[in-house]
Amino acid sequence: MTASRIPEDAPGASPTAAGASVQVTLPDWIDDVVDWERPYRTDEERMRLAIALSRENVARDTGGPFGAAIFEEASGRLVAVGVNSVVRLNNSTLHAEMVAFQFAQARRATFSLSAEGLPTHTLATSCDPCAMCLGATLWSGVRRVLCGATRDDAMLLQFDEGPVFASSWAYLKRKGLEVRRGFLREEAVEVFELYRQRGGAIYNG
Ligand SMILES: [Zn+2]
Repeated sequence: MTASRIPEDAPGASPTAAGASVQVTLPDWIDDVVDWERPYRTDEERMRLAIALSRENVARDTGGPFGAAIFEEASGRLVAVGVNSVVRLNNSTLHAEMVAFQFAQARRATFSLSAEGLPTHTLATSCDPCAMCLGATLWSGVRRVLCGATRDDAMLLQFDEGPVFASSWAYLKRKGLEVRRGFLREEAVEVFELYRQRGGAIYNG
């Protein structure tokens, strides 16, 4: 019989100390790919950025084939971006949308992007949100959602999207969110194919 080993805490990551923290970071290539100054006025421009992020995340081996970005709806100003960082940061919650929400809310210093005085925010994500991200989309305060690849496309790649139902989307719409799905789907799916060819990890299969 082998005694099971008690794992050591990762350095600096023990939750038992006051002031302990968990860091969320973007990969260092982000600023090579993202133009923070230009406005992204159309849905096409916004989705193309989300897809470009997903593609670069694969090409540079920093995570899964998913990218997201958050914009001010009226001005097209880019507020935050996210790429899937689950494997890179050992954190199952760091899907692209979750990363983008966290940076957008930190930048705006609010837990809701619908807080009083703020402009309307739009999320563009290269794939339909999973169960976790769909819930987070509701709480994030974004009012519009653009999705590229579909849940079925992700499932074909063996990623499990979790319990998302037609009624989940209907709930968001009842709450006033505007949703556009399957938008530039073929371009988003090309990145899945790239990931498959490169033998990328499937971490929520
Ligand atoms: Zn997700």
